[in-house]
Order: sequence, then structure tokens, then C-alpha cells
Amino acid sequence: MSARPHVLLTPGPTPLHPAAQAALAGEEALGHMDPAVFAVNREIQADLRTLYGAPVGTLTALLAGTGSLGMEAGFANLLEPGDPVLIGVNGSFGARMVEMATRAGGRVRTVTAPPGEALSPQAFADALAGEEEVRLVALVHGETSTGVLNPLAEIAQVVAPSGALLSVDAVATAGMQPFDMAGLGADYVYTGSQKGLSAPPGVAPVAVSGRALARHAARRTPTPLWYADFAGLRDYWEAHSYHHTVPVQLHFALHAALRAALAEGLPQRQARAAAIGEAVLAALTPLGFTPFVPTPAHRLPTVLALRLPPGLDDAATRAALRERGVSVAGGMGPTAGVIWRLGLMGEGARPALYERFLSELEGVLGVRGVTQRFQEALGVGA
Ligand SMILES: *Cc1c(COP(=O)(O)O)cnc(C)c1O
Repeated sequence: MSARPHVLLTPGPTPLHPAAQAALAGEEALGHMDPAVFAVNREIQADLRTLYGAPVGTLTALLAGTGSLGMEAGFANLLEPGDPVLIGVNGSFGARMVEMATRAGGRVRTVTAPPGEALSPQAFADALAGEEEVRLVALVHGETSTGVLNPLAEIAQVVAPSGALLSVDAVATAGMQPFDMAGLGADYVYTGSQKGLSAPPGVAPVAVSGRALARHAARRTPTPLWYADFAGLRDYWEAHSYHHTVPVQLHFALHAALRAALAEGLPQRQARAAAIGEAVLAALTPLGFTPFVPTPAHRLPTVLALRLPPGLDDAATRAALRERGVSVAGGMGPTAGVIWRLGLMGEGARPALYERFLSELEGVLGVRGVTQRFQEALGVGA
């Protein structure tokens, strides 16, 4: 380990918020049935209602697992074998949804867009116009694999009259912009603790609408995933009866990080990430980096996806940066070797961290002026 702290600029995990770090180190070990833990859980539930803009009657809770468990729990609880499900796919996380929904027994149809492009609300409208009643529509809000922000409000508007449940992957957006679950009419929303909230990985904050809970209660078949069954979740979070041993230390850390995020303000966090992203783009453009997402309105503020300049060796350059204590992410699947993905989630979206990255990049590439352009674009003193 070098003396200087490692700079983690991947789009998850993100650097821990100091309050989460302190909570991890400072809290004593308590049992999962301890009244003090239930008191913290109640505050987490209230803060999650604020985070998601959840209407009355929504169950908020943490699943003991990462964002992928949040994704899988939705399909396991809300689909029964043979149910028609419509999934938006414009990247790796949409594709993961298809895999999970298929395993849950859903009859999957997809609405697709090429990597770097957003899903089209009209395509959802067309797909929903058939005579078959779709039980569940699922899509990723921010597609971390390509840096695309899907037009969720417009898609939700198209889904609402169909009567289908709406499940939203907010892993890349929750905690970094206001979310209006009530206004969207969303039925299931989830994120992962280690993304925009900058808590340690290991818990997935979820919100389940009253309508989704009612559909779940009316299932004809048992929920195939016992561990994340919504009924079991309610047993622990609302009736305070034992279901499984929750990771109490992770609850404390998430609680602290979530409080800090709401205290800063979600619009403020959105503006912070956007300002740094624009400054990084301005700093790197003269080197030949270009935005991977052509349409500015479709760019995800929390993941800056940049096409690499011709001739830049992806693996060697990132390895050299890693040697100097900076981690950035490459592409996934079809974008591997083609793009870099710079995380602007939570504590990753800090000017000092990006200054460090850009100055190390200057060293690796043997160029100058990048950090200065960043500082000028951000309006901070050089
Ligand atoms: C990271 C991520 C996931 C998966 O979360 P894990 O915590 O890695 O399991 C799902 N969806 C999106 C959009 C993500 O960014």
C-alpha cells in the first residue's frame, strides 16, 4: 500500500462516506433482534421513503446482499411461472434482468436499444399494445455499463395505463438525484449500498409498493427465493420477528451514509456530479476522449462514459494508473477496450479525487495541462 490513499473512481464500489466509515468502526456489536437495531431500522425505512419519494403504503427495507439481489428479488417475488414480462435492454444490466426474469419463470420479451443509446418510450408503447397482458415491466434507470440515462418518466407514463407492475433498477441513480416513486407509479425500486450512497457493499435498499405487496400476497405459487421473500422481509422489518440474521454493522453504516446524503440534498448531489463530469470532459477532450453517449440528454450524470482516443492502450494505461493508486473502470461486454467509465457516484464525485486522477494521467501519458483545464472548468483556483 502506498502512503497516499487509493482513489477509487469506479462506478461502484465508491469511496466510503466518512460517516459510514465511522459507523463501521465505532458501533458495538448488537444482535439483529436488539431494540436499538430496530430503532435504527425504522430510521432507515423513513429515510428510504424520502430517498425514493415513496407513497404511503410502500414497504422500504434492506435486503442482505448487493444490488443484484435487489434485482433478483423483484423478479422472484413479482413473477410466477409463465407470466409475460417486458424488459428494456440497452446494456449489461438490462441483459442481467433478462437472465434473472427467465430463471424466475417469466416469459420474457424485450425492448432494446444499441449500447450508448436510450430506450424509447414509443417502443414500450408498441410492445404493450399487443393483446397479451404484461404482468411486469422492468428497466434500468441508469445503465452503468454504457453511461446511459433512460427516459424513465416518459416510459412510466406509457406503462401506467397497461396495468403492469413497474420495476426500476435505480442502482446508478438513487441517492444522486431526486426520485419520484409516487409520481412514476413505480412498484419496485432498488439500489446497492456501495453506489450513490457510498456505504460498504452488502445491503440493497428496496421499496415495494402497496400494489406490488398485494400482487405478491395473491401468488398462486410460493416465492422461489425464500431468503428475499417479501413476506419474510415484512416479518422482520414490520412485525420485528426473526427471519434471518441481518448484517447489523452494514445497517449502521448505511444509516449514516443515507442520513448524510439526505442532509446534503439530492438536487445538490446531482449538481455536484454534473459539474465534475462536465469539467472532466472539458479536461480530457483535447486528448481525444469523446463522449460515448451521443445525445447529451441521455448521458448518465453518475457515470461518465468516454470513448478512448485512437491508439490509447486501455489495459496498459489503466494498469499504470492503478500502480499510481487510481482505479477507473473500462467497458463491459461490447464496450470492453473501447470506453472508460468514470464513476461520479457519492464520494467519488469530489474535485480532489479527480484532480489526483488527472494529474496521474498526465504522468502516465506524458502530457500536461489536463488538471489545470479541469480546475478552470470547475472554477476552482489552480
Ligand atoms: C452495480 C449495478 C448493479 C449490480 O449491483 P451489484 O451491487 O454489483 O450486485 C445492477 N444494476 C446497475 C445499474 C448497477 O450499476
